[in-house]
Amino acid sequence: MLTTNPFDDDKLREECGIFGIWGADNAASFVALGLHALQHRGQEAAGITTYDGAHFHSHRAMGHVAGGFDREDIIRKLAGRTGIGHVRYSTTGETALRNVQPLYAELNDGGFAVAHNGNLSNAMKVRRTLNRRGSIFQSTSDTEVIIHLVATSSLTAPLDRLTDALKQVEGAYSLLVLTEEGLVACRDPLGIRPLVMGKLGEATIFASETVALDIIGATYLRDVEPGELVLVNNAGIRSYRPFAPAAPRPCVFEHVYFSRPDSVAEGKSVYEVRKNIGAELSREAPVEADYVVPVPDSGVPAAIGFSQASGIPFELGIIRSHYVGRTFIQPSQEVRHLGVKLKHNANSALVHGKRIVLIDDSIVRGTTSVKIVQMMRDAGAKEVHLRIASPPTRHSCFYGVDTPERAKLLAAQMGIEQMADYINADSLAFISIDGLYRALGDQRDATAPQRCDACFTGDYPTSLTDLEDQSGGAPLSLVASR
Ligand code: SF4
Repeated sequence: MLTTNPFDDDKLREECGIFGIWGADNAASFVALGLHALQHRGQEAAGITTYDGAHFHSHRAMGHVAGGFDREDIIRKLAGRTGIGHVRYSTTGETALRNVQPLYAELNDGGFAVAHNGNLSNAMKVRRTLNRRGSIFQSTSDTEVIIHLVATSSLTAPLDRLTDALKQVEGAYSLLVLTEEGLVACRDPLGIRPLVMGKLGEATIFASETVALDIIGATYLRDVEPGELVLVNNAGIRSYRPFAPAAPRPCVFEHVYFSRPDSVAEGKSVYEVRKNIGAELSREAPVEADYVVPVPDSGVPAAIGFSQASGIPFELGIIRSHYVGRTFIQPSQEVRHLGVKLKHNANSALVHGKRIVLIDDSIVRGTTSVKIVQMMRDAGAKEVHLRIASPPTRHSCFYGVDTPERAKLLAAQMGIEQMADYINADSLAFISIDGLYRALGDQRDATAPQRCDACFTGDYPTSLTDLEDQSGGAPLSLVASR
């Protein structure tokens, strides 16, 4: 039986990563490398579309980039000096090749390929309208509405048609669009999802994270600004701002968990911010303990920060196997409970008889926390205190991150004390929302938040036309000890 790894199932998941390049020989090989660096943003499928000046070429495959694009014949087939690519993590609905991006269509004025990171929160409504007008959809992806809106736009110039389409959608989108006119990169007016721009010789590159620039030896130039469209073609690089100005609301969770720690997001080192979060957490929720132990790998930088600020030694009390994927074959019912140990195992010799402060990045359903705390206790830990490097996740994300429905979020159902009991931790504490902003070097303005922090606060920065408002929930205290 193929089953989901219980640890992976209990994390929020970024849904996509995108990468594009204009002006490099063998563009597809650069795109494949860039997608490798973005693999953590989506492991279900990957795709690349290139343009050679006369024809578009596409290859899309289920699974990791390594499996789908490491064959020379595939890369050779993707001819051209420009290309875009996408890694996808499937969320709701089916995981089918027809939903794998870049999506491609032949429009009136030529080929149109699009790679999208984010989620359109009015896609179903727009789709119904388009359906009534006769549009026939080829996928169940929200991104496809952009293609149909471009195709049916009454405007003439390709960039105007794209802008016209984007003005009809709401939600989060960082997009790469490849047409015969050039490569377009754009971010929604609030800049919810990231997109950076770089340079390699004469080539221009766009990527979800700077780590994808690093892997091909490119230099970071700047972020694509919220609400900005950048067109790159033989005439050079031009920037457009077709939307009404709005206060940006980039996703705060990129810093907590989604981005790789070796990336720089909004000009800040993700690694340093995570260490700051750990330091803030140690000040907000101090605890006497013998060791600070991270839940690997994502809890490591915050645990280092907690250890440095508190003076409690950092130790690897949990060892992670790097050879377990998102799913694994479960041999039989009898060994089901052993499955959790495939990915994480307690370092018993270290933790036996010790007071442990465990650092994890977030609690989603709580299933991982229950198992990890029990694992520490089974290994002989005297006390287990859990510290979480994000505020309680009480609301679902509708902007391109896979979140369980609100009813399944532990923090939406329980107060902190109840959660500590449920997890069987001696104490449990989360960083406060203000502490999280401080770790980013900001001060949160509750009347006009500078970021999207909706999964913690319920303050969604856009309308959610397709969904019921799931915000709300009684305020809860942040620390509980037992
Ligand atoms: Fe990021 Fe949370 Fe906002 Fe989604 S709801 S964009 S995960 S901060």
